[in-house]
Amino acid sequence: MCRRALLALPALALPAHAQTRPQVVTTTAMLADAVRALAGNAVTVTALMGEGVDPHLYRPTRADTQRLLAADLVVLNGHRLEGRMEEVLARLSRAGRRVLALAETLPRARLRSHPEYPDAADPHIWMDPLLWADAAAALPAALAPWAGDAQAALGAYLARMQRLHDYAQTAFATVPAPQRVLVTVHDAFGYFGARYGLELDSIQGISTESEASLSRIEALVAMLVSRRVPAIFAETSVPDRAMRALIEGAAARGHTVRLGGTLFSDSLGRPGGYTGTLEGMLDHNITTIARALGGTAPATGLNGRLAA
Ligand SMILES: [Zn+2]
Repeated sequence: MCRRALLALPALALPAHAQTRPQVVTTTAMLADAVRALAGNAVTVTALMGEGVDPHLYRPTRADTQRLLAADLVVLNGHRLEGRMEEVLARLSRAGRRVLALAETLPRARLRSHPEYPDAADPHIWMDPLLWADAAAALPAALAPWAGDAQAALGAYLARMQRLHDYAQTAFATVPAPQRVLVTVHDAFGYFGARYGLELDSIQGISTESEASLSRIEALVAMLVSRRVPAIFAETSVPDRAMRALIEGAAARGHTVRLGGTLFSDSLGRPGGYTGTLEGMLDHNITTIARALGGTAPATGLNGRLAA
């Protein structure tokens, strides 16, 4: 394709007014999902981190830095989720740009502690639809200059999160109580487990920067065997090398554990698809976990939109 055609494409693909719309840049796709739901077409929303990207390890590119500096509003998660973006985010604040750290708007008493950073809380708030909905309530004020309807749209967004929560409660109530154990690669599910009565264990801890230790693997195998846990779960944004060790370790002790599926932890699924929305992503996780742990939930999920 010639250079001229390449240059012409974006202009053809976007409505004429799109380029003049206020630019909101978010770090994660979960944040972009909430901004889109509340602001509709009043702003253009760009998420820096795409499908399967690990926010704990993500380093901004030069183009990201330019986008952030040019944005009318930057929405980040905060509480050290974007561990390798802190320099550029601090630069934005120093420059007096509009920056909203969504997780940091919640009262500290509602957040879980962060074992690795005493000054921060567990950042994975999107895992609990009700907690996420409360954080999203900070968005209308930030979007007010451009999206006057955001406050009204918030009501519909909260209702969708509440419906998801009701579905999760119903699904997890069907899992036999001793099997309400969620073993994942890293500790992204603290809020989720607390909300739905699932005991949690992970291989790596709350960030993904450390490797699994042998003693950690052995302790997890012993727990899986003694509790007769039927399944463990991989994550789309983190490599799952140690999962195989857990399955083989349990098998050597005469207990069959299977890989219950791959969960979305710190990123959404394919953009434009159902799991590319927070609702679809959580529906996938709830449905996959409940079914693999011996509970009942429709294979196609809350909205009949998951691949069965
Ligand atoms: Zn994480």
